[in-house]
Amino acid sequence: MAQKYNIEGISATVDYIISRSFDQNSPRKLDPVETFALAASHQLKAGQKAAARSLKLLEDVEDFENLARALPHYSGVIGLLGAQSMRTKALVKVLANLQRLDAIPSLEGGYHVDQYDVMICRECRDKLSYTLEPYMGYRPDWVYRWAATALNELVNKPLSECEHLFHISILHELGEDRGCRDCIRAALEAKDGECFKSWAEDMRSELQDALRAVDCLYGL
Ligand SMILES: [Zn+2]
Repeated sequence: MAQKYNIEGISATVDYIISRSFDQNSPRKLDPVETFALAASHQLKAGQKAAARSLKLLEDVEDFENLARALPHYSGVIGLLGAQSMRTKALVKVLANLQRLDAIPSLEGGYHVDQYDVMICRECRDKLSYTLEPYMGYRPDWVYRWAATALNELVNKPLSECEHLFHISILHELGEDRGCRDCIRAALEAKDGECFKSWAEDMRSELQDALRAVDCLYGL
């Protein structure tokens, strides 16, 4: 008997009707704030998106806080949704805009930089026309694979559970199936691993700062 009632199908239809009601020439006019909260609490994704778009809600953390304040009854679900979507946005912002790595001059060599100071192999360096100068910027290909791995994990897990991303052994994983192995070797060996360590520390604090801004939404 229960199968007679196709709950999933009904939900999908309601979701569709709600989302279409925000079309410009729709005769039905729903209140976007109420609709957003209701759609969110019943997991009607299309309706939720259409209502949010109509309100331009999902721009930043403050918008979610304001909405939660306006609808205290739904503040929990609004907070969770906001936190998840803002978390992804914050991570993409940091990880898609990775700064170039700096070649810091070695202490012993003063302002002289040599191959031992950089986390990119000689061949890739030549191919990309990077020169060995103090504070010159360069980007080895493993950095992009690191960013993709980090995004994948940090979208679903807190930073504290992703410590391995910042440990030098991650380089072995990144070099397993593709990319330049010589660049991985250069990163492992540059200043006996100190280069990677300080780069990873910088990345960690940048990500920490970006995620701190969205943490407040979890507590709504
Ligand atoms: Zn290389």
